[in-house]
Amino acid sequence: MNSLLELQNVTKIYGGGLFSRSRTLALDNVSFAIPSESPQITAIAGESGSGKTTMARVLLGVVAPTEGKVLFKGQDVAGMTRKQRREFRREVQPVFQDPFEVYNPFYKVDHVLTTPIKKFRMAGTKREAQRIIEDALELVGLRPDETLGRFPHQLSGGQRQRVMVARALLLKPSVILADEPVSMVDASLRATILDSIRNLNRELGIAILYITHDLTTAYQISDNIMVLYRGSVVEAGSVERVIKHPQHPYTRLLVESIPQPDPDKRWGAETTVSNTIGIAPGATTCKFVDRCLAAMPMCAEAVPGFYRIDPDRGALCFLYADSPELTSTEIATVLQRDADSHEPVATGAE
Ligand code: SF4
Repeated sequence: MNSLLELQNVTKIYGGGLFSRSRTLALDNVSFAIPSESPQITAIAGESGSGKTTMARVLLGVVAPTEGKVLFKGQDVAGMTRKQRREFRREVQPVFQDPFEVYNPFYKVDHVLTTPIKKFRMAGTKREAQRIIEDALELVGLRPDETLGRFPHQLSGGQRQRVMVARALLLKPSVILADEPVSMVDASLRATILDSIRNLNRELGIAILYITHDLTTAYQISDNIMVLYRGSVVEAGSVERVIKHPQHPYTRLLVESIPQPDPDKRWGAETTVSNTIGIAPGATTCKFVDRCLAAMPMCAEAVPGFYRIDPDRGALCFLYADSPELTSTEIATVLQRDADSHEPVATGAE
């Protein structure tokens, strides 16, 4: 199966330069792939300091990995020509957490929509540009006549964020990387924005990477999930399996900390899980050993492998050491399923 966007053994270490003594491991040998045949919605979930923001930056090509590769349609992003990189930038579009930061308060919202059309030469005439903009606004549930010609402060937070989704759409991307897109939006508007994002996947076939600290919304819109802890993917697979039946002790802790009575309450806001700001490179134990209720002597002596515990789910934990251990190439395919049958893809690991 071909991959649209792929991380191969990506490690990112910050610091350690001429003027910096400390080094922080933000991503630790992460591999995964988004299939091109059946674009899905994949959540990258983690607390503050888990590495999810770094992963977003690496995927967008804004930050270069210290080790490993980012591949887009099989090509190493680091080795792209200017023209190829421009195409990569068009096809992989971000939607950020705080739309207000993107707007210039002195310009009408039209400005954020016309600028990318000009930059990527998406239209030959003004009329064509207008049509592309109106189509994109309608696709995210906004009426062009009620949106265009207004200043950012004249729109609600939800409308501003949907304009940002429309902006990403203008460029006909194959991947949208949505980084906490609803965390600064009223709870009442979250569902509408998440619906818009889900429709882009279901109707236009755009692969979505949904980066979040919120397991509740991740469960609502995603097909798959990767749970990050201190720069490592500790559990990955179908969102149904991972959230309903978490297997890694850390994922279990997170799922148990979701406040049950109030689905709108943010996960992580009142969790017992402590902050996990990055650690120094070179760990020789399980990173979770100090907090794990299931820890065994071996957990303090070696780093666990990533084991396949279901056909489409794996975990980084010695509890599953009797299951097949996956190579980095096989880990990358844990999230991939066959486009037609939606059955798990065989990786040859069994
Ligand atoms: Fe807990 Fe050991 Fe699994 Fe780490 S490897 S999560 S310490 S059981």
